[in-house]
Amino acid sequence: MNLSLLWRSRTSVLRNPIRITNPRYTHTNYRSPSPASLIASVIKHKPSKMAATATPDLPILPAEDSHLTAKFGRETANYFSGSPLNRLSFLRTEHAFLAPAFKHPSASFLLMDNLAPLISTENTSQLAFVSLPEIVDTLGNTVFEKTEEELIKEFNSEDREQIVVFLGVDEKGVLSGHGRSEEKFRYKEFEGVPYFAVDVTKWENKEQLKERIEKERKAGFFGGGPRHMGLIAGQAAMYGYARALIDWNARTPFCAQCGQRTLSVNAGTKRICPPTDHAGGEVKERKPCATRGTVSNHSFPRTDPTVIMAIVSSDGSKILLGRQRRWPKYWYSTLAGFQEPGESIEEAVRREVWEESGVQVGRVVLHSSQPWPFPASLMIGAVGQALPGEGEKIYLGHDAELESAKWFPMDEVKEALAKGTHNMGEATPKEYVEGALRLPPQTAIANRLINSVVDGWWVASRM
Ligand SMILES: [Zn+2]
Repeated sequence: MNLSLLWRSRTSVLRNPIRITNPRYTHTNYRSPSPASLIASVIKHKPSKMAATATPDLPILPAEDSHLTAKFGRETANYFSGSPLNRLSFLRTEHAFLAPAFKHPSASFLLMDNLAPLISTENTSQLAFVSLPEIVDTLGNTVFEKTEEELIKEFNSEDREQIVVFLGVDEKGVLSGHGRSEEKFRYKEFEGVPYFAVDVTKWENKEQLKERIEKERKAGFFGGGPRHMGLIAGQAAMYGYARALIDWNARTPFCAQCGQRTLSVNAGTKRICPPTDHAGGEVKERKPCATRGTVSNHSFPRTDPTVIMAIVSSDGSKILLGRQRRWPKYWYSTLAGFQEPGESIEEAVRREVWEESGVQVGRVVLHSSQPWPFPASLMIGAVGQALPGEGEKIYLGHDAELESAKWFPMDEVKEALAKGTHNMGEATPKEYVEGALRLPPQTAIANRLINSVVDGWWVASRM
């Protein structure tokens, strides 16, 4: 477990704190029962109660009155969730779907350079997409023409791999695509604009491509690096998904079992270890590999579960927060750490809190989760309550990770949520008073957990 790793991934600077309202992101856009629309893609502008800093909006789920909501309260949707796309994961092996989707005039491509996405230079909270004709010279138009069986049979470890990932279909026209075609792609009962992500990092003509895109599209790659935290909610989720998959494909060129080169299949969501290789102009059998036998014949992108928890004191009056030495002065956050094999999430929460702070936690309740694509975490947010008496005693001697851990009264934390939240690289909000507690912004699940605890989420069920 290394909290500093987790926290480092949360320190991106918000480059363009523009808050925008897109009238197309309304409930009325969503009538389809597709997973993307039902679960997490109703996105609308919501002014933050903690308006100390301009941070991107969060995904908002549709109102509903289920028994589950009556008992447990509303579901929390965190930043990096809420993609407007239907992933259609069951079609990733169907090249009869992928090939025409890829070549369709509406098909929209998110280019990524060293994991930095192409974004509009006029509004950096928006991704920018290009059409196939703009990149066909380098990418070609036959990417999904061959079946996976054919690709495996023709595998040549000397070929340079183009990393292309199918992201999904925008069925409701939430996004504007590349803006050069009104036509919708149709396949069976599915209709909409297909989206793909393409890694241009190793393209030889990258500089010319960038120049042309900058001029014609008024778009550019995010200059500050591969951690764009200023995108509007739904697009942040698309970026997170594309980033995680492109990164995984690029960093996993070899088989984990036998060390030989692998081949990307399933539209960028699976890599396999082919049995033969055409390298050098002749077909050779490759070394045996267990992944081709009974163990499995593939490897999938990883998702690393991470627990992150707001711990309430036994009397409910305080919350436990910690800080690392290199963080800005007065900056605290919830404790966090990697989930380990052989333990439940609840146990990981209790173990991490005890190891880092000495505090003993009793009951733990799951709160919400957040995809965190830096590079492949799933933040599992929980709220726990400390055991009374000795259980609340802070001791930092087990693990040298934290410089300080403290119990903060709820009122002080409430004040910090209102006046002291901002990204780590940013200046403090103007309302902030030097010396007061500072906290992460609402794009971090830590902020949502702290907010929920202060708001009494853990006290009684909401109606
Ligand atoms: Zn292998």
